[in-house]
Amino acid sequence: MQKELTERDLDDAERILPRYVGAGPRYTSYPTVPVWQDAFAEAGHRRALADAGESGEISLYTHIPFCRSLCHFCACNRVITRDPALPERYLDAIERELETTRAAMHHSPQCVQLHWGGGTPTHLEPAQIERLFRSTTDRFPLAPGAEISIEVDPRVTRADHVAALADCGFNRISLGVQDTEPATQAAIHRIQPFEQTRDLTLAARARGIERVSFDLIYGLPHQTEASFDRTLDAVLSLEPDRLALYAYAHVTWIAKQQRGFERRDLPGPRLRLRIMLRAIRRLTQAGYRSIGMDHFAKPGDELAAALDAGTLRRNFMGYTTLEGVDVVAFGPSAISELPGTYVQAEKEHGRWGERVAQGRLATHRGHVLSAEDTWRRAVIRDVMCQGELRVAGFEARYGRDATRALAQDLAEARPRLAPFVEDGLVELQTSGDLRVTALGRLFLRQIAMVFDAHLGDASTGKVPTYSQTV
Ligand code: SF4
Repeated sequence: MQKELTERDLDDAERILPRYVGAGPRYTSYPTVPVWQDAFAEAGHRRALADAGESGEISLYTHIPFCRSLCHFCACNRVITRDPALPERYLDAIERELETTRAAMHHSPQCVQLHWGGGTPTHLEPAQIERLFRSTTDRFPLAPGAEISIEVDPRVTRADHVAALADCGFNRISLGVQDTEPATQAAIHRIQPFEQTRDLTLAARARGIERVSFDLIYGLPHQTEASFDRTLDAVLSLEPDRLALYAYAHVTWIAKQQRGFERRDLPGPRLRLRIMLRAIRRLTQAGYRSIGMDHFAKPGDELAAALDAGTLRRNFMGYTTLEGVDVVAFGPSAISELPGTYVQAEKEHGRWGERVAQGRLATHRGHVLSAEDTWRRAVIRDVMCQGELRVAGFEARYGRDATRALAQDLAEARPRLAPFVEDGLVELQTSGDLRVTALGRLFLRQIAMVFDAHLGDASTGKVPTYSQTV
């Protein structure tokens, strides 16, 4: 069982955090999306789909891009619209994409995880939710006990939406909250009275959707330690099963509307750190377990159990309990994790729709993992999910060559790991094993970066740009 953060750890974190402020990947994949190849061949996508689901299980993600208004912090792929005709046409296209994708698969797996994200999935009307659910599960039957989850915006989600979700069998609901303070909500263009969050949470539970998660963001305009405390007071009063505490990503080259934020309103690096540390302290005191880099879960939650059992994993949906299950994704910009291959669909909605209408896969970017990528991905996953790297057992999983390469890499990485060891974030054993301490779990992204062979790879001419790690 992993050690929990202590008060002393949090004091130490405040002292050393400024040394680790910088940009870095979130490692929902390895290699990360910016180093994948553009114009990836549709034939490569088809080959990978043919092998998908060989284990008998599959995870499905569907992107529903519509939102009623634009939140100014948002860097997601979304379409701001109030035109009721668009979602209906979109569902026609998704059904076509489901059909084409299913036909390309040689195996007939059961769906063990189904997730809808966005955008705003509850921008769909209840009848449209039922239609999409049916067309998905007709082609990919649900396994008993499947996790069926959805991201919802409390500002647009009504009682009849909740009824439709419950009737379909959704068993986890994730509410976008971000911050409950009026000044911050006004600055980010997302007015969401707390009563909307509370009423939706209670309505979901009353309909039997008992597993509830909230998303919060720190680093937004006008936030202070005191203001974020009030946000935490509010959300903790509803006792969610999980909380995600994301750092606001100031990525103005992707989300141009973020340029409208006044620099003076954004908390500076020191205040961001203090808000984050205070939030972690509060969540830990409230009994939540720290899961990986930005998730918190009640002790009885599946993520906490997976952490203890060593089966926690990470994919594009965040932390997950599923190991070795391929992810097939639908919709523009959606990312599939297939055997040995990552693929991202066309991001531009018009081009995505044209390809789908032609009965083709809407392949855009992708990457076929080399042998080195495969073992490095395992190393980075072990660091990000388990907080440790055991050399014993590596050979059985990845072979002798990979184990030899890892041993050499660990030897070469020692000077880069030295500052982490000195600061008490990492312990290196004589066996070659690496263990991330409870304090080090606050710096997982930075530790994982030591093993990333693609960072600033001058030979490819690509130097990826990432958001701040803290
Ligand atoms: S934060 Fe959510 S609701 Fe707001 S614009 Fe982005 S996807 Fe839409």
